[in-house]
Amino acid sequence: MKGNLISSVVRTLFSFFVPGGLLLLGAVACVHAKIVAQSLPALMLIYPYTVFGAGMLLAWRFNKSRLVFALLVLALADRSLLLLVHRTIDSVRTDDLVFNAVALLLPINFAVFSLLKERGICTLHGILRLCLILLQALGIVLLCRRSPDLNIADYLGYSFVDLPALAGISLTQPALLVFFAVFLFFIVRFIIHRDAVVSAFFWTLVSVFIALAFEKLGPLSPVYFATGGLVLVISVIETSYSMAYHDELTGLPGRRSLNEALRKLTSRYAIAMVDIDHFKQFNDRYGHDVGDQVLRMVGSKLVRTTGGARAFRYGGEEFILVFHESLMDVIPHLERLRKTIGTSEFMLRGSRRPRKKPKQPQTTEVPQNGVSVTVSIGLAERDDNYRTPEEVVRAADKALYRAKNSGRNRVST
Ligand code: GH3
Ligand code: MG
Ligand code: MG
Repeated sequence: MKGNLISSVVRTLFSFFVPGGLLLLGAVACVHAKIVAQSLPALMLIYPYTVFGAGMLLAWRFNKSRLVFALLVLALADRSLLLLVHRTIDSVRTDDLVFNAVALLLPINFAVFSLLKERGICTLHGILRLCLILLQALGIVLLCRRSPDLNIADYLGYSFVDLPALAGISLTQPALLVFFAVFLFFIVRFIIHRDAVVSAFFWTLVSVFIALAFEKLGPLSPVYFATGGLVLVISVIETSYSMAYHDELTGLPGRRSLNEALRKLTSRYAIAMVDIDHFKQFNDRYGHDVGDQVLRMVGSKLVRTTGGARAFRYGGEEFILVFHESLMDVIPHLERLRKTIGTSEFMLRGSRRPRKKPKQPQTTEVPQNGVSVTVSIGLAERDDNYRTPEEVVRAADKALYRAKNSGRNRVST
């Protein structure tokens, strides 16, 4: 139990730090390495354009509108800060205004993007979102023109407390406050949802924070902005990979992952096929939505199977567990799993409760309390009769058939 908790914490930390944190660490090491520092001017010229340009194209092709917008905001912020370096807008006061406004708006935009649903780019939602981003840029330009009368720069640069520790940081206190609130928000969201995009947003923002707080308008600022962009680009690839290899409903690895895992199997292993009993009846009684919730919950029990099993969704209401142990050693783990599922009352979200009173009488029953299901399990191992993983899967399927025929809610070999 304790071991399971530790491995789950380690896995969560690993998926939070890799690849975003690792990439940022690499960037920090690189900019301090002599050889990279020497080639920095050339790098700065191509690195941001390549990352922002290629990244937006890739995110657009993969239909990840939130990441397109996040990259666009990064690119706009980075390039507008570059304008200040080249003194296109020539006033210290306007410099501060643009810098402070960018520092305040960036984390807020990222927090909002992380909450948005994918609604495409060339759609009404997408165009509206794009307009909002451009409006912010326009707002900053307009404010620059009117800042002397409005004193906006003073508000953005307001100091709540006099802290000498903050002397070396270029960010204003309102911006620092927003940054840390958004960092906290992303950490909480990651713990709840384990979403790779949220961890990418977090690390991108850390990279932007380094650029703004410690490299204000310095030569390394675009490198950190572009590294933040790179973290987002990698998350596009990562989430697309995950979508291809994972089942969307249960979050378990899907058929493609299973096929790859089977190809890697050698020597000793056992395969269990798990099938929910009378699931068609269950769906007919409670409806497909409730069925989906139960599938998700059964999936969550399967991942916690003891004995080092790896769980896959095979298809429909069938799952596969792969063990690296002998058949005899696996049986107690499967018996425990079968009992755990059979005795669990799954509490359901009230999603089936209609908002309006239905005109037609309901054909499916709305469960008042929890519901429960049982599973039948067929088990087979690699031996002289079944030499390849495919043969072992077929043997497990036959064993499952025997479990069904002998009364269900049991493990058969
Ligand atoms: P048995 O005990 O013999 O396994 O009976 P069964 O009803 O579970 O088996 P059968 O193969 O007849 O039906 C499987 C049902 O699983 C039919 C289908 O509606 C349901 N099912 C498959 N995939 C999903 C899914 O993704 N969501 C929901 N809600 N139901 C699904
Ligand atoms: Mg079934
Ligand atoms: Mg079935």
